[in-house]
Amino acid sequence: MVDLKKYEFWFIVGSQDLYGEETLKQVLADARVMVDGLAKDPLLPATLVLKPIAITPQMIRKLFAEANAAENCAGIITWMHTFSPSKMWIQGLAINTKPILHLHTQFNRDIPWAAINMDFMNLNQSAHGDREHGFIHARMRLNRKVVAGFWQDGEVRRRIGVWMRAAAARLDGMNSVVLRLGDNMREVAVTEGDKVEAQIKFGWQVNTWGIGDLALRYAGISDGEAEKLFQQYEAHYELAPEIKTAGSARQAVLEQAKIELALKSMLEAEGAGAFTTTFQDLHGLPQLPGLAVQRLMEQGYGFGAEGDWKQSMLLHAAKVMSAGLPGGVSFMEDYTYHFEPGKEAARGAHMLEVCPSIADKKPRIEVHPLGIGGKAPPARMVFDAAPGPAVLATLIDLGDRFRMIVNEIEAIPIEQPMPKLPVARALWKPYPNLQDAAESWILAGGTHHSVYAAALNAEYFRDWAEMSGIEFVLIDRETKPARLLDELRWAEAWWK
Ligand code: MN
Repeated sequence: MVDLKKYEFWFIVGSQDLYGEETLKQVLADARVMVDGLAKDPLLPATLVLKPIAITPQMIRKLFAEANAAENCAGIITWMHTFSPSKMWIQGLAINTKPILHLHTQFNRDIPWAAINMDFMNLNQSAHGDREHGFIHARMRLNRKVVAGFWQDGEVRRRIGVWMRAAAARLDGMNSVVLRLGDNMREVAVTEGDKVEAQIKFGWQVNTWGIGDLALRYAGISDGEAEKLFQQYEAHYELAPEIKTAGSARQAVLEQAKIELALKSMLEAEGAGAFTTTFQDLHGLPQLPGLAVQRLMEQGYGFGAEGDWKQSMLLHAAKVMSAGLPGGVSFMEDYTYHFEPGKEAARGAHMLEVCPSIADKKPRIEVHPLGIGGKAPPARMVFDAAPGPAVLATLIDLGDRFRMIVNEIEAIPIEQPMPKLPVARALWKPYPNLQDAAESWILAGGTHHSVYAAALNAEYFRDWAEMSGIEFVLIDRETKPARLLDELRWAEAWWK
């Protein structure tokens, strides 16, 4: 699993050399207290590093140059304890390649009414120092997250933590590969996209490998290795009775175990964090990878079906962002609706490939025929998604830019049994309601595939989109389709 502590965030406190040594010493001491306090809070999952107080243009430029070169530096947090003339920051910000969070806070929570004097005011000027700092970002048209509030406040810390997780996912993407097995499903438009632009924007290397390479690895996995993995399945999941005894169902599970081992060795050999398959290109494999894909998603790999590398990459980013958080994240697809008045809901699933991290209870491994792809009946995990708040997120390529679309949803219990549909599934009510959410999603050009995230909310994806420099469209409780259509048209002008 992902270790977020390996990601460093540099805390750069701004000041200037006018105030004299005493004041700057105090600025450093206060910053130290603040960084130690923040670093101890589990809401901030990564490593926070205090840098020297920034007081001259030369020094600020050097700090940003060092941050650019630091492999583990995932982002920079700036805060102005005193006033810090922001023309000093231009050269540094101009070369900066790391995401920035501008923390607008102050060291003291309360005004010390009885003691306050001009010395105190000189030292504690964040309220106007940070306005000067904010201006230069706005003037230079730089993307950043601004978080305002007292630094000990839980909501302030939560929002810093969200941004840290998004920035960790961004840095992870800079050194990651989407391993594509086969191409996209024939004639499908929405899973296509500009892979060069994806590498420019997100860092991801999106490349292809032949299914024959996987088939060769599959053939090389011994029965003993598959049996060993089968024992893990027995320990972690329920098994349908016919799988527990020798026969074709058990054999199908063992074949999926071999596919899992073959896929994993290939992902490791290529340093890939995500992969895609396509049911139209499975030559040399006995079944569509079902259980195998579910298992690999559970281990943190991104996945997209039918060659959907954008959702695969986004799922991996969501896996990094959600590391250690309750709830799961999964590949998902809108499949069918329930239009009963008052009980409107959408039911999501895929052919097989839904991640058990979102399951309500222990998944059950079953083997059934699949009406598509012309292969042997595949083994898969069957479960319902846990109820609760979640979001659907997707990435599309509009030809001149990427757009991320996020819909806030509420997953609800599945009350009716579906004995003839043995796949993992989720049922949800989207906000603001099914009709308006569906109209909005379709007006925005949203995919049938998405990333289903119970562990994350829209803010994570917004932060990630912002630091990636792409468009972000939110469908939430306030969304009205006609108004959204206007916004999408205005966005055309902005992104020109
Ligand atoms: Mn699909």
